Amino acid sequence: MRSKKTLTILIMVLVFSLLMMGCGKPNKNSGSNPNPAKPPVDQPAEPQEPEEPEEPALPTTTTARTAYPLSSADEDYLVLVNKKFHVTENYKADDLVTVTTCDPDVGNKETKMMRKTAADAFEVLAAASREDGYNIVMRTGYRSYNYQKSLFDSYAAKHGEAEANTYSAKPGQSEHQTGWCCDVGVRGRGLTSFNGSKEAEWIANNSWKYGFILRYPADKTDITGYIYESWHIRYVGLEVAAYMYENNLTLEEYLGMVD
Ligand SMILES: [Zn+2]
Repeated sequence: MRSKKTLTILIMVLVFSLLMMGCGKPNKNSGSNPNPAKPPVDQPAEPQEPEEPEEPALPTTTTARTAYPLSSADEDYLVLVNKKFHVTENYKADDLVTVTTCDPDVGNKETKMMRKTAADAFEVLAAASREDGYNIVMRTGYRSYNYQKSLFDSYAAKHGEAEANTYSAKPGQSEHQTGWCCDVGVRGRGLTSFNGSKEAEWIANNSWKYGFILRYPADKTDITGYIYESWHIRYVGLEVAAYMYENNLTLEEYLGMVD
């Protein structure tokens, strides 16, 4: 008896549910519709939100950069500038400051500058080198597009454009314009004699501790596109510099931007 009663209740519930489903949508043709013969007009579709214009594709460098764990919100210091990725002619960072520990006989007031974060890091590096018995100074930091142009043109006039481009960047292709790098040396000594010096060895072994990398290593010329430069260091921040040093990576490799 009990199960029969339960079955009856279940059937009642089912019938009630079916009835309710039928009531789900009000019948437009029922009730006081004055024109019942007229077929129901399809409701116009909900007005569509205007489609957002597609975001312009981010430069591939930015995409690559976001793949790395960065501890700072300021990613500028990982900007890739090389023969493929250029800086616009008018670009100039707005936080360039004068580096104190520099060779006063090289360049001009402007080339003694770097972006503040890099300049501060370089002062720490220079002080550390003094503690170790080396007087490493900055020779050239920031270079404007026009400064780089006159530099490259003078090399090209002497050695031809192709050869000049193995050791000097064309305007817009120099990371010196970013303010994140510098050429180092010893006061009164030329750049090329820095190669093989004990100071160059110190730079190669220690600059990562201060957030710098050797940007154009001897064994990576096919990747960087430039000959070995023991003097050119690039700020990439402490964390990335340590990682790149440990794994023997160029900036192109770190950013995954090798052809
Ligand atoms: Zn340089």
